[in-house]
Amino acid sequence: MNALAATNRNFKLASRLLGLDSKLEKSLLIPFREIKASKIASLHFISLIWKIVECTIPKDDGTLQSYVGFRVQHDNARGPMKGGIRYHPEVDPDEVNALAQLMTWKTAVANIPYGGAKGGIGCNPAELSISELERLTRVFTQKIHDLIGTHTDVPAPDMGTGPQTMAWILDEYSKFHGYSPAVVTGKPIDLGGSLGRDAATGRGVLFATEALLNEHGKSVSGQRFVIQGFGNVGSWAAQLISEEGGKVVAVSDITGAVKNSKGLDIPSLLKHSKEHRGVKGFHGGDPIHPDSILVEDCDVLVPAALGGVINRENANEIKAKFIVEAANHPTDPEADEILKKKGVIILPDIYANSGGVTVSYFEWVQNIQGFMWNEEKVKNELRKYMTNGFKDVKEMCKTHECDLRMGAFTLAVNRVARATVLRGWEA
Ligand code: GLU
Repeated sequence: MNALAATNRNFKLASRLLGLDSKLEKSLLIPFREIKASKIASLHFISLIWKIVECTIPKDDGTLQSYVGFRVQHDNARGPMKGGIRYHPEVDPDEVNALAQLMTWKTAVANIPYGGAKGGIGCNPAELSISELERLTRVFTQKIHDLIGTHTDVPAPDMGTGPQTMAWILDEYSKFHGYSPAVVTGKPIDLGGSLGRDAATGRGVLFATEALLNEHGKSVSGQRFVIQGFGNVGSWAAQLISEEGGKVVAVSDITGAVKNSKGLDIPSLLKHSKEHRGVKGFHGGDPIHPDSILVEDCDVLVPAALGGVINRENANEIKAKFIVEAANHPTDPEADEILKKKGVIILPDIYANSGGVTVSYFEWVQNIQGFMWNEEKVKNELRKYMTNGFKDVKEMCKTHECDLRMGAFTLAVNRVARATVLRGWEA
């Protein structure tokens, strides 16, 4: 089942539990608008890329390349649309659509005043030079500048993008609209980024995990963790979990996977990964096949990479008692059913990884107020939001006698449905 079909299915199950009427259900499901910047492949775009390549990057071969970019705006009933921009070879319209919808539910679970959106460009950023990335980002911004804005749609980093990408978007957008720091979040600190934004998704994963484990009479300390993905989210989660006394026994990324049943030394692994651009070759553990990472023996499995990785092929083999979804949509619905029967408890993505967008909200608030928070305040506020989110999700689980995923979905869909009805239907 692809990401969109899976997300629609979870929405419909939640809508049924809530007894929403069919008109409202339809209106919540259909994206507000879908923008396909296909003209990015136009001659104009190619010539710009070509100019950059030819003029500034001697090692580039001068061949013409075209890329397709997307921005899907899903819903704005509760506030400006919000969501990342992903640079990845597998970005496609269906996936961006599903991720935009997940952002609507995620911002609603987090109880921050936003809707949902997502963007992406089908490219492999690792194969592009910095100049090519900058040009691609600027051209993409030129195509969507009239659709994004501080009070309409606020992009942020996602896979393959980061603070520098946001700085380019901010700069290009400001050429059209004047200097507008709150048009993007996840910016470099020097341009109005928030302290603690870089670590925010990983820190949110830690707070979410603590809330879940405490509920089961356990704590992070002493539990064995396996983390799939060692990018921004996975590496911060590993670092913060190990600082809390959790034992990270296996980690993987696109270069390979490494295991140490006594617990990996995360600061050394971080150093190795920075120097060698990946975990492969780390001597503080034994190499294992990256495909086997999800079925390694552990207490808590943290998928922090791509979507759809836990599926019917591997669900039966999973040994973890808890799964904390740091990635978006890592668990296929078929796997969800299998894991439920096995008694595995899954903390769903729209709650578990909401720390990133929550600190994006703090950044936006700071930009609008023109006042910078210290890091302690960011951490304390994030902890409050994550703790309250868990309580709210549990409350819905009790009301609807459902699992945590449906608890999170019913919480979100109910909040968005209420806002939609309150705003009314008149044209
Ligand atoms: N890309 C992140 C996510 O999927 C953050 C989005 C944001 O901060 O707007 O939640």
